[in-house]
Amino acid sequence: MAVHGSVCIIGSGPTGLYAAEEIRRQAPLVTVDVIDRLPTPYGLVRGGVAPDHQKTKSVVRQFEPLFTSHGVRFVGNVRVGEDVDLTELRRLYDAVVLAVGAAGDRRLNVPGEDLPGVYGSAAFVGWYNGHPDWARLAPRIPGPRVAVIGNGNVALDVARILALTPGEMAVTDLARPAAEAIAASPLTDIYLLGRRGPLEAQFTSAELREMGELSGARPVVQAADLPADVPAAIDPRDARRVKRNLDILRGFADATAAAAADDPRVRVHFLFRHAPRAILGNVVEGVTGLLAERTPTALSGAGGARPSGQTTTSLAVGTVVTCIGYRATPFPGLPLDDERGVIANVDGVVEPGLFVAGWARHGPRGVIGANRASAREAAEQALAYLRTVDTPRPGGSELERLLQARGFRVVDFAGWQQIDAAERAAGDGTRPRDKFIRIDDMLAVVEQAAAITEAGTVEATPEGTGTRTESLGPVPSG
Ligand code: NAP
Repeated sequence: MAVHGSVCIIGSGPTGLYAAEEIRRQAPLVTVDVIDRLPTPYGLVRGGVAPDHQKTKSVVRQFEPLFTSHGVRFVGNVRVGEDVDLTELRRLYDAVVLAVGAAGDRRLNVPGEDLPGVYGSAAFVGWYNGHPDWARLAPRIPGPRVAVIGNGNVALDVARILALTPGEMAVTDLARPAAEAIAASPLTDIYLLGRRGPLEAQFTSAELREMGELSGARPVVQAADLPADVPAAIDPRDARRVKRNLDILRGFADATAAAAADDPRVRVHFLFRHAPRAILGNVVEGVTGLLAERTPTALSGAGGARPSGQTTTSLAVGTVVTCIGYRATPFPGLPLDDERGVIANVDGVVEPGLFVAGWARHGPRGVIGANRASAREAAEQALAYLRTVDTPRPGGSELERLLQARGFRVVDFAGWQQIDAAERAAGDGTRPRDKFIRIDDMLAVVEQAAAITEAGTVEATPEGTGTRTESLGPVPSG
């Protein structure tokens, strides 16, 4: 029997949109609204994926038809917990799926972590990607040395972005203030610290290889840090990637040995088996250094990165960026599983009718497509729940009325398309876009477009009042 009803998805990143796609595919009669607190959709694709990875960002083309032809509504600029409560949404929709990601930073838990000049990757990546939450971060990057902590892809992203030349930046959608700040920073050395060795690094090979393809920077790797081969003990699911990474790192080590002493490029030092122990400095000067302790060489689990007692490397750095993983931030009205850094759930179920998917469910792991599995599961859970609902709830039309009554300015997908067009136009044909980094500026574009439309409408219908009521867009007829 065909399923009817309404689902509200909170979060318009890849997980939320994979879930929307799945619901539309399995149950075309179910209405789907995707709420986002920003006027812009796509979550980490816009605010997390590195600005020089435009090919990765093109995944949004796969999602656009959801809004333009498959009847899913984008309900942007709506903050759940402030503009509307989760309890209200639960009264309006038959099921709710949380796809809110993991927007917080894990703590390093070493002395000096809160000094000015220390940034978590959520903040730092958000800043260079123009996320409105971090538009005012203005990180201290006095140069000439920066430490980036972590051996995952985010650490590679951060180190690479800091090492881009103005020419390389010019073809990215790096937020303009970030591009200017990085270009103005006299960096010579970036230290990439892993608390374990090259075998345990989480890098994917394509991202690691890129570090050797930068025009203004070169990787520095010591051959002595690299094992001769991949040991048999390694997880077979990882063996190919690790072997490829070792080959790439060997190439870097060869190039390091052959590099001229006066090579002017920024050096990106891979410091394996260096566990951070303290960040040095004071509140006035900010960060002045980092102390790291060597850890044992044997292949070990993350907890095995214990200090060897062998001290210490001291690095004179003016900035530290920790890229050691994300955690979910508290969601109003819901308990957090503090240990796992996720919204408390049992196999994706928070409560009957309330589901969670993606990084908010299982923690921050995997590339974009890896979130499809838990998104599909949440979609199936929501649809199974809908089958048990006797009296369908009003859905999005009632939300529209509620938000209008409260005077909130909702941005629908057409509104986002206007913001998108304005950003692309500001890119001047070379940059993919020049991002708005303030919500007010985004809303001004939507307002302006509405005013133009309204003027046209008023002219065409002289009896009209010209008063605009912002619509969430058509309710899908499906
Ligand atoms: P990640 O891959 O889990 O890497 C986190 C790193 O932080 C690990 O090297 C970890 O070391 C280290 N770490 C954790 N706690 C630490 C501590 N207390 N001290 C020192 N080091 C510590 O996480 P991520 O880099 O944030 O990436 C998150 C996910 O997004 C990953 O699945 C990643 O592949 C994906 N991503 C993909 C791309 C891409 O495809 N281009 C780009 C960005 C992100 P241990 O291993 O020892 O715990």
